[in-house]
Amino acid sequence: MEEKHLAVQAGEVGEDGIPMLTVVVDGCWAKRSYRTNYSSLSGAAAIVGFRTKKVLYMAVRNRYCMVCSRAAAVNKLPGKHCCCKNWHGSSSSMEANIIQEGFQNSVAMYGVKYAKVIGDGDSNVYKTILDSRPYDELQVEKLECQNHLFRNFCLKLKDIVRDSKAGPITLRKCLGKNILRLRKSVISATAQLTKNEVNFDCCSILQKHILNAPYHVFGDHQNCVDSVCSIQRKNDTNWIPDLLQSGLLYRIMNVVNNLADNSKSLLFSANNNCVEQFHSIVAKFIGGKRVNFCLRRSYLARCSGAVISHNSGSFMTRVHKSMYNTRPGNFVKSTERRRENYLIRRKRKMSRPRCRKNLCF
Ligand SMILES: [Zn+2]
Ligand SMILES: [Zn+2]
Repeated sequence: MEEKHLAVQAGEVGEDGIPMLTVVVDGCWAKRSYRTNYSSLSGAAAIVGFRTKKVLYMAVRNRYCMVCSRAAAVNKLPGKHCCCKNWHGSSSSMEANIIQEGFQNSVAMYGVKYAKVIGDGDSNVYKTILDSRPYDELQVEKLECQNHLFRNFCLKLKDIVRDSKAGPITLRKCLGKNILRLRKSVISATAQLTKNEVNFDCCSILQKHILNAPYHVFGDHQNCVDSVCSIQRKNDTNWIPDLLQSGLLYRIMNVVNNLADNSKSLLFSANNNCVEQFHSIVAKFIGGKRVNFCLRRSYLARCSGAVISHNSGSFMTRVHKSMYNTRPGNFVKSTERRRENYLIRRKRKMSRPRCRKNLCF
């Protein structure tokens, strides 16, 4: 209701009178994996409102049920049980399926449409949403998370530096030293444009800035704007002819083009921090992914607890009674009280103006 109210206040209502929300989506697994090991038994995904940062939809998919698999191991039929297995596909397709389900239920659940979606660069999720056509005439718009865009940009450039077939070592080293400068020049150009009101022209101006960034960084200042480029920089050595001859520039421009295509997302300065915050709470509830909670329905219960904790912003003792039908123990209460006091103290400390004397060296 809060998210809906804020969308109506901002005037984001469709022709049929249904409020159109901007949402942030992402999934997480019960198993640690970073660019490797895609074999988690359970996965969860959440749809979070961009304005209130609260979870609007969350679901869990399990690939495994302990009762069924133990019965299968001895060639018997499983006894009567509440089966938690609700997914037969691969781990990587869990997230897309959950989010598609959330989009299809949005009108029935809340009477809203999710018109814009902020994702983490996973094109599979967006493709599934588009294919399912949740709102007949309305095309869901996609914005990329700024943090992920810059991270992928740097990772791809680092890959070029590491690839020995890409070009001579001196040029690759020069590129390696300048990756952060490239990133910084894009960030400063974006910040300059977002100072004033953002319109359609800004998008094409930023695109030009981004496409010129490699030329500026590697010492060719023909097309630079004076406000961005200083006189001191103009005396740098020009690496562009060498880069062009070795073919390295084409590969760099390939990566830069990718970023320039997403200039609209950069101007919107969207990020998916709120959904990452939710995932961090989930990770606390499942003990940092060290224990396997995928055997029965424990993962679902823990994720649901995380939703309550995230949305209410309160500690678990407040919902303990309704979840477990018992009072929380004294130790838990005192620990949470101590943590709460610490947070209040830290907040007070941060809001106080800093002492100037301490800043001088
Ligand atoms: Zn089962
Ligand atoms: Zn320049």
